[in-house]
Amino acid sequence: MPEQSEKMNLLDLDRAAMEAFFTSIGEKAFRASQVMKWIHQHRVTDIAEMNNLSKSLRDNLQAMAEVRLPEVVVDQKSEDGTRKWLLQLDSGNSIETVFIPEGSRGTLCVSSQIGCALECSFCATGKQGFNRNLTAGEIISQVLVANHALGFDKDGDRIITNVVMMGMGEPLLNFDNVVSAMSIMMDDFAYGLSKRRITLSTAGVVPALERLREVMDVSLALSLHAPNNTLRDVLVPLNKKYPIKETLAACKDYFSDKKHRYLTVEYVMLKGVNDKPEHARELAALLKNMPSKVNLIPFNPFSESDYERSSQKVINNFRDILVSQGLTVMTRKTRGDDIDAACGQLAGRVKDKTKRTQRRVQMQVGAK
Ligand code: SAH
Repeated sequence: MPEQSEKMNLLDLDRAAMEAFFTSIGEKAFRASQVMKWIHQHRVTDIAEMNNLSKSLRDNLQAMAEVRLPEVVVDQKSEDGTRKWLLQLDSGNSIETVFIPEGSRGTLCVSSQIGCALECSFCATGKQGFNRNLTAGEIISQVLVANHALGFDKDGDRIITNVVMMGMGEPLLNFDNVVSAMSIMMDDFAYGLSKRRITLSTAGVVPALERLREVMDVSLALSLHAPNNTLRDVLVPLNKKYPIKETLAACKDYFSDKKHRYLTVEYVMLKGVNDKPEHARELAALLKNMPSKVNLIPFNPFSESDYERSSQKVINNFRDILVSQGLTVMTRKTRGDDIDAACGQLAGRVKDKTKRTQRRVQMQVGAK
């Protein structure tokens, strides 16, 4: 995406914004649904080809706007079917998007920021520093590129059935752009995904959770990772600002007016750190009154981290304790680790504006 372009990028606009734009230039609002269909369903990026718009409208539109997609620089396939794209953005920055097939479900893991400011101690993205928020266009581009590459199955259904905002970055710290992009994901003139098939994963930005509740109804996952504040302060430093009790209360509020919905609780399994039986019991007590499902994530190692993955036996024991306390638990399968596409391994290439890289000796940005 050329930084210098002055033209508006139509990918940045959700339907409400696009309708407002067309109305502002004296056109009918329904032009928005036509243009969204061209871009998101037919992957037409050349405005001249949008032939249900009059020639004069196309000329007018081309003078003001364009469809700027990032360039796909790497497209890797794992032995297990996982696929990863590296998308080139402005100079020096790139992001990764991962597709994970499982039976009839196809999940796309989407990034929301270039790097991440939260510095969770076990996450590769956090080690890279933070550069900037992705635009709504850059977020939805990931869905567009992956959808176009994967297409439809033999019944004419899209291969991508679910989106998780679990790639690089903290989606709730890029609120407006993430909300716009998710509304395009749900739009019938774009991808038509139901709210239940889009999951926003957050480390727990409490005020933004409260705002989200007012504008969207997507599924929610919380990166909890520890059953008490002392431990969570170390693993997820954001906890110092929004401690566990407050964060869980905000999650409960998020679901308060929604029937049959539950919180996905993410819990990374770190050997000897948060995986002991007493942690499991503490976690079960914490979640007693919370409609939730616990997702245990075996830690995925990367080169700048000293943590290790808990053994399968320890993970199973942890799971059994939670189950015995009445919780629903799943252990996430590690997918795509041969192409560095597993949870927490997404790196892309980040021009670190926080200059954290300089403080670390020989840190390899972009490599694991
Ligand atoms: N910032 C958001 C979304 C990005 S992280 C969040 O915190 O939820 C997506 C998930 O991957 C989170 O649950 C995160 O804690 C987990 N994760 C990060 N690094 C990991 C690693 N090395 N191994 C396993 N899971 C990891």
